[in-house]
Amino acid sequence: MRRRNIKNAHERLINDSIFVLNYEEQCGKWNQLFNNDNPIYLEIGMGKGKFIIEHAKRNPNINFIGFEKYESVIIQAPTKLKEQNLELPNLKLVCADATDLEKIFSEEEITKIFLNFSDPWPKNKHAKRRLTSEIFLRKYEKVLKKDGIIEFKTDNRGLFEYSLISLNNEKWTFLDLSLDLHSRDEDIITTEYEDRFSEKGNQIYYLEVKK
Ligand code: SAH
Repeated sequence: MRRRNIKNAHERLINDSIFVLNYEEQCGKWNQLFNNDNPIYLEIGMGKGKFIIEHAKRNPNINFIGFEKYESVIIQAPTKLKEQNLELPNLKLVCADATDLEKIFSEEEITKIFLNFSDPWPKNKHAKRRLTSEIFLRKYEKVLKKDGIIEFKTDNRGLFEYSLISLNNEKWTFLDLSLDLHSRDEDIITTEYEDRFSEKGNQIYYLEVKK
């Protein structure tokens, strides 16, 4: 995600209640924050938020949390909400790094994780940083409920192949797979990157797995 230097990004983040600032204190208590017992879906690396906003809009009985590590990127999500005149009580945003996942969620607090167009980190020496590396998969396993699901989309063939192997090595079960998601006759909620890459003619790879 291209990062612009956004003026007052930090102040805007502090002043908008959609952002959860004391996120480590919420560990184990996210359902209290949402004030209901609905399942929680988490998107890691949500970028500017198109995908998670649309999901939250269409699914009021699911709680959504968007994770993004850069303030200057995540701060653009509330603008999208204001443009559409939307208030979504089932959506919270967190500016944090997925490395800290286990400090932010207790075991089995999450029902589904979305990974969309994660940074491919093409060099082998950076493989551990990929969001489907075994290090991250083990974190996901902890915070996900039994039968919890990961949905993964990318146009990057290298990352897709790596993720297949990594998930297989870690003994995840493949529930669904596509080498060309957009050829399906389905109503797909797309991300910013997905729109851009599919317009260029790139195929979108898709995986759905559970432990
Ligand atoms: N999902 C969006 C953005 C994809 S770019 C889309 O499909 O349009 C990948 C995003 O993941 C970037 O915004 C990057 O800052 C974020 N990201 C990468 N590693 C992360 C991590 N460890 N924790 C949180 N966000 C991360």
